Amino acid sequence: MIDLNNYSFRGKNVLIRVDFNVPVNEKQNVTDDSRIVAAIPTIKSVIDSGGSAILISHRGRPKNNLDKDLSMRPISKHLEKLIKKDVVFINNCCGGIVEKKIMSIPKGSVVMLENLRFHKGETMGDIDFAKKLSLLGDFFINDAFGTAHRAHASTFHITKFFKNKCLFGHLMNREIKMINKALNSPQKPFTAIVGGAKISSKIGVLTSLIKKVDNLIVGGAMAYTFIKSMGGNVGASLVEDDKLDLALKIIKDASSSNCTLHLPVDSLNTLSLNDESNVYSSDIKEIKNNLIGVDIGPKTIKIFSDIISASKTILWNGPMGVFEKAAFSKGTSKITNSVSSATKNGAFSLVGGGDSVAAIKLFSKESSVSYISTGGGATLEYIENFSLPGIDAVMKSF
Ligand code: AMP
Repeated sequence: MIDLNNYSFRGKNVLIRVDFNVPVNEKQNVTDDSRIVAAIPTIKSVIDSGGSAILISHRGRPKNNLDKDLSMRPISKHLEKLIKKDVVFINNCCGGIVEKKIMSIPKGSVVMLENLRFHKGETMGDIDFAKKLSLLGDFFINDAFGTAHRAHASTFHITKFFKNKCLFGHLMNREIKMINKALNSPQKPFTAIVGGAKISSKIGVLTSLIKKVDNLIVGGAMAYTFIKSMGGNVGASLVEDDKLDLALKIIKDASSSNCTLHLPVDSLNTLSLNDESNVYSSDIKEIKNNLIGVDIGPKTIKIFSDIISASKTILWNGPMGVFEKAAFSKGTSKITNSVSSATKNGAFSLVGGGDSVAAIKLFSKESSVSYISTGGGATLEYIENFSLPGIDAVMKSF
């Protein structure tokens, strides 16, 4: 495979699939540019060696191409500031006019094309749309780890038109290397912390982690489904009643896989998610019927923190509670501190998935963990299957 570090793209147009689906505020200013920053080394490799970087990305889920709030234009402006270089914005992503414009731009330029999803063919995985995109570049680089779990036109089908001319970007290479490092050769004890709202969105990863880790810590709303499945009273907490059997199966599978499953022993509860002033802790199995569990309690914080401190490899996805509200954020904040201290003491820690990353940032601990993945669903699917459509497609193009 072509090595991005040592390849000269002099005189070539290089189509780079990036994932610039980033949050913006009401003024369309980017509020978290981690994914953009993470793609810059690949853009630099291409332009520094004399090629043009033609960037393609999706943004949000537009209904049609009139959804101007989801244009790539503001993202292009933000990139311009970051790289301190003009970025040519073209208000479409394929077709004769776009091809002509790209041909007329001097080599070494950075070009951002309009939202791929303004064309239905992108999410439909339309091969003709993929072919049209392929006409814009001599090479194709996939650097969109966050979208690699989708078999869309620009992430999967497009590689068919770049035989021996596909490669991974630096970001993609780093993501694969870091997740593999955690999963393939973990120093023990290996602990996974899984939290967040629903078991249903994390079944695959929970099932897969049980076979790999020594400790599986479960927090967040999904813990209440586990507790209810064992007969606990979780009051009005968020529970997936149709997943109680599944929770029991995960508990059983964990014990037969030599994985210790750690569930919270106590819970912080409130009358309403909007009520941050009246909070009560209780045994997690004895939550009053009118109360909602919103965070792990103090005893659980201590137990989870001790396990994390003794761990040498840590994987974290999903918050321990409704961390967006200050009164319910202590559990997630303390677990962030524990992961950070364990890392300082030599553990390898990988945080993946939108909300745990948001929490790490909220508590200003970005630089205290070993690696923050740019993927949400992609990270989970990669942990589960050790492959993703966007990765396989590039591998198969040789
Ligand atoms: P996920 O996307 O599945 O990782 O879920 C993240 C969301 O789960 C965050 O917005 C949290 O506020 C939410 N969450 C975590 N714990 C709870 C809880 N006990 N009750 C309700 N929502 C929760």
